[in-house]
Amino acid sequence: MHKAGFVNIIGNPNVGKSTLMNAFVGEKLSIITSKAQTTRHRILGIVNGEDFQMILSDTPGIIKPAYELQESMMDFVKSAFDDADVLLYMVEIGEQELKDEAFFRKITNSKIPVLLLLNKIDKSDQQQLESQVQLWSEKVPNAEIYPVSALEGFNVREIFNRIIELLPESPAFYPKDQLTDRPERFFVNETIREKILIHYKKEIPYAVEIDTEEFFEEEHIIRMRAVIMVERETQKGIIIGHKGAALKRVGVEARKDLELFFGKQVHLELYVKVNKNWRSDQRQLKRFGYNQK
Ligand code: GDP
Ligand code: MG
Repeated sequence: MHKAGFVNIIGNPNVGKSTLMNAFVGEKLSIITSKAQTTRHRILGIVNGEDFQMILSDTPGIIKPAYELQESMMDFVKSAFDDADVLLYMVEIGEQELKDEAFFRKITNSKIPVLLLLNKIDKSDQQQLESQVQLWSEKVPNAEIYPVSALEGFNVREIFNRIIELLPESPAFYPKDQLTDRPERFFVNETIREKILIHYKKEIPYAVEIDTEEFFEEEHIIRMRAVIMVERETQKGIIIGHKGAALKRVGVEARKDLELFFGKQVHLELYVKVNKNWRSDQRQLKRFGYNQK
């Protein structure tokens, strides 16, 4: 059985989210890990094991991978980041309350499992720890509370294992073997794909595949070139639209999102190619991340 899912880490700045992420990665030396480095809104990391894929993010709702094709192929339904599978709410010892009421209510009303991680307990004594656990269990009654020291590794393994327990049965969302050196390209693919889903009728998004062939980061700009692959000449015409207007709209909107995502100016070149066999060609499917078990 394979498990995979999205884990959102939320919490104030400086509480230790990144440290925990690093500790997770350090727990599993055999895994492939990945960090999108230049991103403002980012996936913190993807931890892959033989039978699981844990996608950790501090970006609720920004990226919505459109995996319709993959979903239908694999016959499972999975929603995007908005509804993560597990919520990690990190606070540090001594922290009393969240400034943002609405945000806090969202956590306490969460329908997905919430692990409240009380971090930096290496800085506290037993008495303070107990009173903090008491405080947070009253504030967030729906959460499982874990005292943790991300820095010293206390409880990290236990939390990691608990998350895996909570992940749903699912194939991997991202290719396990390609992530190390090219995570950015997947974001680009997904962003373009999302625009296509928004702007074209259903049969079109199902027929396309996107491949970001070039991703070249310069000091002030990232230059990208992506191909939108379709199966038929007619689909190519639809994607491009009258005088290129439809494709242009996709490009402009995708570029805006990508600039936000990467926090940098983006030059995005899009072109459309007919590739009759992309669906059936096993090698290509593998390359695009399908057929992952
Ligand atoms: P983030 O902003 O939530 O990602 O927080 P970071 O992971 O960048 O950590 C902020 C600071 O807290 C850094 O100086 C860390 O070394 C420190 N820190 C993180 N976890 C712990 C912990 O468990 N104990 C102690 N004492 N410090 C920690
Ligand atoms: Mg951080």
